Amino acid sequence: MDKKKQSTKKPNSKKRLYKNIGFAIIITIFIGVFLLSFRQPAKLSEQSFNDVMNRANRGEISKLVVKGDTIEITPKDQEKATEKTRRDPTANLYGPGGLTNRDVTVDFKAASSSSATITALAINLLPVIIIVGVLIFLLRSAQGQGNQAMGFGKSSARLYGNEKETVKFKDVAGNDEAKVDLEEVVEFLKYPKKFLAVGARIPKGVLLVGPPGTGKTLMARAVAGEANVPFFSISGSEFVEMFVGVGASRVRDLFNKAKKNAPCIIFVDEIDAVGRRRGSGMGGGHDEREQTLNQILVEMDGFEQGQNVIVLAATNRMDVLDPALLRPGRFDRRVGIGLPDRKDRLAILKVHFEKKPLEKGVDLDSLAAKTAGSSGADLANIANESAIIAARANRTKITANDITEAFEKVAIGPERKSKVMNDKEKELTAYHEAGHAVVGHVLPDSDMVHKVTIIPRGGTGGVTWFIPPEDKSYHSIIEFKDVLARMLGGRIAEEVVYGIDRVTTGAGSDLQKAAELARDMVVNQGMGKQLRDQVFHVEGGMMLDRLVSERQYSDETAKVIDDEVESLITEAARRARAVIVANKKQLDDLKNVLLEKETVEAEQVLELLTGTVLPKEATLY
Ligand code: ADP
Ligand code: MG
Ligand code: ZN
Repeated sequence: MDKKKQSTKKPNSKKRLYKNIGFAIIITIFIGVFLLSFRQPAKLSEQSFNDVMNRANRGEISKLVVKGDTIEITPKDQEKATEKTRRDPTANLYGPGGLTNRDVTVDFKAASSSSATITALAINLLPVIIIVGVLIFLLRSAQGQGNQAMGFGKSSARLYGNEKETVKFKDVAGNDEAKVDLEEVVEFLKYPKKFLAVGARIPKGVLLVGPPGTGKTLMARAVAGEANVPFFSISGSEFVEMFVGVGASRVRDLFNKAKKNAPCIIFVDEIDAVGRRRGSGMGGGHDEREQTLNQILVEMDGFEQGQNVIVLAATNRMDVLDPALLRPGRFDRRVGIGLPDRKDRLAILKVHFEKKPLEKGVDLDSLAAKTAGSSGADLANIANESAIIAARANRTKITANDITEAFEKVAIGPERKSKVMNDKEKELTAYHEAGHAVVGHVLPDSDMVHKVTIIPRGGTGGVTWFIPPEDKSYHSIIEFKDVLARMLGGRIAEEVVYGIDRVTTGAGSDLQKAAELARDMVVNQGMGKQLRDQVFHVEGGMMLDRLVSERQYSDETAKVIDDEVESLITEAARRARAVIVANKKQLDDLKNVLLEKETVEAEQVLELLTGTVLPKEATLY
């Protein structure tokens, strides 16, 4: 019914007429229903919901049975329910003014299906639905920002915990150290007395730090699930609204709700959105953010001992957080959650393929091996995509091919077979990709070629895919230099084959990535030639809602950095050129097979590239 009403129309005179007619109809229905509902005598006792809650919180009630909109009440020292009350079924029993006494047993039962109750329910709900419908209708037609003013200051934190599907630690694969650390938090929530008895101070804030998609949010929910406590979740970016003061009042509201539901967990996702370093020297602060952050600090300091609300927060940018957040008594515990290694990747894949039927012989371990650098979210995505691919092909089991296709789709975007290239462009692309492959293959510290294709994918004309032979945490200068040369291999192949002024824009993103890597080497890793072992700080900050950066070094140093970057790129291009010139035959062979087959897999690439040589000019010593 309210679907119809939602169809908003552009205000022009004729439409407006319809709108008014619609409005009149809605009001008529509303009045009709209102009168109708008066004829329906309420069968429930006169006990108000609030009175019942107060009695329950005073301990005068032993058991509540929730059946739809009625709650049957068993007073203390009685065997059976003798009273009833009514509540709004959409309201939270544990919400504000609700039940706080944890000794009261609460059972949830399906509403009795007698048709009389259902009609009564429907008739009682109808006015509410209509009013909400009218409100939505009015709000939708109200233009501009005015409508955002509704309900500001209320935190939009979602309450989890009473949900059926609680997350447990076993649903989070890998991350064993993090689990051990968080096990402790679970104990704090479950048995606070044990710790208070020996005078231990229970930590108030725990910060989960790790790259995106590694399961921080999932882990926080698992903590709540293990401790079996309510879980309030809000994202840092939700605090940052247009009105100054809204964020702070949301924080207050959120913490008040939480205190009423203690023991419980508040989870602030992406806390860096509000918790950025204040006034980092540029353009003053962002007032709104600063007030919100202050309020969080005030609330955390205001927790009394024994209140037992633990604030979990997640971030992938610990370096930008305000130091005040990290002080003792606030987020003084840090739990690192990293990208999964091969063993953990396999475990994550197993979790996500658990309910998906696999064809016999599908080897998840080999997928785990080649997904180095993928996050848990990427792996979950691969599992899901492969199921979609299988289902679209009307298969009931997922095959190894589906998984490979899903992996490639997730890693570099879907194939765009419909994008046609003319023969000349196709040849150029084949040379370009073969160039990457040859340089990558020949240079000793590069990764292994996994696949070369000239089928357009994502935003690129073709892809040459390298896979690191194993998980690596550290990279050497030589490795990076080989990667730089490999990145330029495509452009240089074009240059060697077609001539220096006939190279194309096809290499645009390669050059961009190479420039970024070279700069990172010099600025952040101390890998320049003159500027070896020095790093250069660039302070990032917010100015008038824009991310700006301010470098902390002199103009002379900036010049040297630019020169260093340039010389890294020049050297890489020189090495790539030497490799390609020395292995022109293999380049041509690979190009020909690419033109014929469009995609060449690892083993065949290796075969085609036998006999390649590493010319002296391409070596680094
Ligand atoms: P983050 O908050 O760190 O960005 P999320 O918790 O939102 O990451 O993770 C996104 C999804 O990725 C999860 O819902 C889950 O499906 C999957 N995932 C990530 N890490 C794991 C893991 N360790 N085990 C199982 N699933 C994971
Ligand atoms: Mg998250
Ligand atoms: Zn390229």
